[in-house]
Amino acid sequence: MKTLFDCKDDIHSCSKCGLCQSVCPIYKITGNDCTVSKGQFIMLRGLLRGELKMTKTINRYLDLCLKCGACSRFCPSGIDVVDIVALAKAEYFKLHKTEKLKSFILKIGIKSLNLINKILHKVFKTKSKEHFEKVIYFGGCGGANESVIKILNSMDIEVITPDFECCGFPFFVRGDMKTFESYIESFYKVLEKYDTYDVVVNCATCEKTLKSYPKWHKGKEINIKNVFEFINENHPVFELKKPKKVTFHKPCNLDNYNSVKEILNNTKNLEYIEMNDFDSCCGLEGITNFKEHKTMSKLFTGKRNNIIESGANIVLTSCLACKITLSLFSKGKYKVQDFIEFLANNIK
Ligand code: SF4
Ligand code: SF4
Repeated sequence: MKTLFDCKDDIHSCSKCGLCQSVCPIYKITGNDCTVSKGQFIMLRGLLRGELKMTKTINRYLDLCLKCGACSRFCPSGIDVVDIVALAKAEYFKLHKTEKLKSFILKIGIKSLNLINKILHKVFKTKSKEHFEKVIYFGGCGGANESVIKILNSMDIEVITPDFECCGFPFFVRGDMKTFESYIESFYKVLEKYDTYDVVVNCATCEKTLKSYPKWHKGKEINIKNVFEFINENHPVFELKKPKKVTFHKPCNLDNYNSVKEILNNTKNLEYIEMNDFDSCCGLEGITNFKEHKTMSKLFTGKRNNIIESGANIVLTSCLACKITLSLFSKGKYKVQDFIEFLANNIK
């Protein structure tokens, strides 16, 4: 697998223009250059040249990065900052047993979640008819969501739900590349049993991670699609049983917000209000970063205020991690729901 040293050219291509500073949610709070890609690349150059060592302080700055990718989308040099930060974290991971222990505990937690979901899946029923189109559904560590099956079945699509594991993102961002690779291998192994490579995903972070697999591992070509793109291609018209007012938090990893917006705007009886900074990071990476509590709570408060100011009492999203983060900091001011679950539960 690639290492930080393979990204030397990308790191050197940073022109230090500082445009990343204008979009980085963490830099906006800290004002500290070391917390944004521009400053991080200066540190990493020192590391590559052997002038600096991978210390706790450098790791702290890497941990402050939310891996939201906002800077990459804005960077004139097109640098993939999230990949580089993950590979820099991998250098720290290799040297520290405590990081390995944390990753091991996380792995046990995710495996247990997978197991619970496998048991629950047994009760999910997917409709199947000869004329139905078939699609494989990747549910990730949150498991297959019955709502996705219900919505796709209503559009004459048969949903296959194999026993997939996690997409590996939680390990990738912590620099545990070995575990990340093992999840990629497990994904391709499961797929080998099927004759279709059309995979539909509900969680935006799983989608982004699965789409990145060819960068890290040679495997068969797969066609990953977000469930919203898939729905839009079939042009269904949804109508809610009762009028509802909602806002939407766009996960950083959601590529196709337009598909979501189209469904939100075209669903009858649904009023969609786009909140301020609807696409700014929820701060998931900050949840476990207890040492930076002050910085992170400013981020969560900003997001909560935007939701409240929208006037909607329901905030929809499409990433399990965003759903957890938004719920944890809601203070009971709004309900957080997965968009597909909301549709499945409220349409006529
Ligand atoms: S926007 Fe890109 S090129 Fe400019 S300073 Fe940031 S990382 Fe470097
Ligand atoms: S990924 Fe997000 S948090 Fe990290 S440096 Fe880029 S904009 Fe800032």
